[in-house]
Amino acid sequence: MALPRGATKEIEPRVIADPEVVRGEILAARQAGRRVGFVPTMGSLHAGHVSLVDRAADACDEVAVSIFVNPTQFGPGEDFERYPRDLTADLAMLAGQNVRWVYAPAAETIYPLGHATRIVVDGPARRFEGEARRSHFSGVATVVCRLFHDVPADVAYFGAKDWQQTIVVKRLVADLGLPIEIIVCPTVREPDGLAMSSRNVYLTVAERQQAVGLSESLRLAEVLWEDGLSPEEVANDMKKHLRSRGIAVDYAAVVDAETLGPAVDPAPAVALVAGRFGTTRLIDNCLLPGRDDQGPSIGWDL
Ligand code: AMP
Repeated sequence: MALPRGATKEIEPRVIADPEVVRGEILAARQAGRRVGFVPTMGSLHAGHVSLVDRAADACDEVAVSIFVNPTQFGPGEDFERYPRDLTADLAMLAGQNVRWVYAPAAETIYPLGHATRIVVDGPARRFEGEARRSHFSGVATVVCRLFHDVPADVAYFGAKDWQQTIVVKRLVADLGLPIEIIVCPTVREPDGLAMSSRNVYLTVAERQQAVGLSESLRLAEVLWEDGLSPEEVANDMKKHLRSRGIAVDYAAVVDAETLGPAVDPAPAVALVAGRFGTTRLIDNCLLPGRDDQGPSIGWDL
């Protein structure tokens, strides 16, 4: 029997690989008046992913999580092969989280033999991650569109950790008129500030220490932004800090939080950073409040 919203009885998620089955179950739940929340992931779940599931469970009657390491969002020579995969550990992370369905399709399901269709994204997908990883956002948009079809939820939850991705996904939903609401949730961090990421397991002890420089550079950006420095000045000081930590900087920039174009006073901006640690590449960001905003810093908390 369906539980009322907020009920605490634990449920075991049903693991489904068949898109027709998961779609049928979700449509049936919605027809029965249940609000369904969806958290798309690539697995290797950590507390950041669980925070999205929590948020979905708070606001919805049912929660679906997808676990799919999407090959098309990895470029040649990237970490697709070594990306951590452990469904048993992922299911253990989701135990007691009130997740009804885990959709874990095979690669051949999402990309059937002879597949030839890709979504092309432009605008906010062009710079930063789009420049460093040429077909990345096309792969993201393609899989997200397919997942939204297979899991026709009311609302989907994404992490602010991948800020540019949230902008690209919102653009995709608006441009294709996809019938789903997008909610962006705050970045969950380790105690020293490093943003949680499935890729953190690649870091050596020394790289792990160095990697905290990313969030340090964002804290610096918050302070300098509040002091009234220009986007370029803030970005330059971020780069200086990152380099002083020995980090190979892919980019550090302050741009408009919604368009990712030039930051325009008094609209909120975002500081974006990407760095390389040996063979591992990590990204992070923080929102910077509009300059006439008298309220508290929106910092890590959106
Ligand atoms: P991924 O499995 O890396 O594709 O991430 C799945 C979702 O979890 C995406 O919406 C990410 O932005 C989100 N996510 C990843 N890391 C974090 C984090 N540290 N805090 C909050 N959300 C996160």
